[in-house]
Amino acid sequence: MSIETACQCKKSSLAVNGQVLTRFICHCKICQKVYKQPFADVVVVKSQDLAQVDQSSLTFAKHRLPPAVNRGVCMHCSQPVLATLNFLPNWGYSFIPASNFDSAELPEPSMHLFYHRRVQDKQDSLPKHSGYWQSQLALVNKLVFTSN
Ligand SMILES: [Zn+2]
Ligand SMILES: [Zn+2]
Repeated sequence: MSIETACQCKKSSLAVNGQVLTRFICHCKICQKVYKQPFADVVVVKSQDLAQVDQSSLTFAKHRLPPAVNRGVCMHCSQPVLATLNFLPNWGYSFIPASNFDSAELPEPSMHLFYHRRVQDKQDSLPKHSGYWQSQLALVNKLVFTSN
């Protein structure tokens, strides 16, 4: 299964040859800055499932000390396209904005992370994880559980 994704201006696209592992709402400060929104709606896939990634239209930056997520935004529209957390070259997890997908096949978000950083309360029944390590752990648990 191949799923196409693209930024707002459509100049930075990539495909996912595999399944979506999970989707979550991130309230961390870095997402607020990169997404220019109160929170980010993020889809997680395996990095090795990415295809047709045109690095030439992306600007990458790390916003934390290692191990940090390497975040790529489109040079043309400044919208996030791809963020990667790889433990080995091309082996790890990649994060793609849910809004870059156009299929209705995406799963619903599974949880809120870094909820202590929220600038907007969310009235939904999803689990809300606060704290840096609690949020990281919740995501790791979700990914390990999903890939088994
Ligand atoms: Zn975040
Ligand atoms: Zn763009």
